[in-house]
Amino acid sequence: MSNDLKILFIFIDGFGIGSDDPAVNPLRDPRFPNIGKLLDQAHPIDACLGIEGKPQSATGQASLLCGINAPEAMGKHMEGFPLPRLKTLIEKENIFSKLRKMGKDPTFANSYWIDDPFHIPLRRQSVTTVMSLSANGGVRHKDELMAGQAVNHDITRWTMHERGYDGPHISEEEAAEHLLAVAGDHDFTLYEYFMTDRAGHSGNPELVFQCLESLEKFLPKAASFGHQPNQLFLLCSDHGNIEDNTTRTHTQNPVPLLAIGSGAKKFQLLENLADVTPAILRLFD
Ligand SMILES: [Zn+2]
Repeated sequence: MSNDLKILFIFIDGFGIGSDDPAVNPLRDPRFPNIGKLLDQAHPIDACLGIEGKPQSATGQASLLCGINAPEAMGKHMEGFPLPRLKTLIEKENIFSKLRKMGKDPTFANSYWIDDPFHIPLRRQSVTTVMSLSANGGVRHKDELMAGQAVNHDITRWTMHERGYDGPHISEEEAAEHLLAVAGDHDFTLYEYFMTDRAGHSGNPELVFQCLESLEKFLPKAASFGHQPNQLFLLCSDHGNIEDNTTRTHTQNPVPLLAIGSGAKKFQLLENLADVTPAILRLFD
């Protein structure tokens, strides 16, 4: 594979492959044809990793973004933000640091609404925050967001006014343009969208609809990244949730692994979350 390869990876929290029935699965709502089409192209992979119980965010994300079976290493699925032992594992094994060792230039495209990109309270350090702080030396913050060089976690900035943001909301298409610009400047770009998991836990159909409406507009433009030569678009999740409106907890459903563009075929054979990072690293090798 070419050394000029660029990858854009969108990680969507709590976004599994569920029933085809739109009465149960909001992702199959005919009002979201783009999401439906992307799911049809995706390859299902296992998120349970042979460990009993429902998959959770901390170990699921660590598996996906470090290429390890994290629930096996920890002895169980672990939710929320990583505790010290898992955090140490993430700092050692994450895809950003592995790519840096290969001479590549990875980045995390999410913005943090903070003034100091190096100081994020421990209680707010998710898997991706830990990765970015330890391997990339910081995170994107206010200045980058305002300059269109980062994407907010809610895509359009609609949750940001209560946090002191006084700028405009932007369209999903504009946010996708910002993401494409960041991805065009780096070998590997990760963007995380976790509102889907929150919406699934809320059991609030309006919030579910709002998140999916945003993704419906955002994803096609972001996925167009994979239509350019030497570029690959990837999308995956850590576990199911939003695809089943009969429960407010995570599900044991497989999650979609979508790959479009250069090297996409290599992702058709993968079986579980822990296979994704090694497959990405092989493309760059
Ligand atoms: Zn959750």
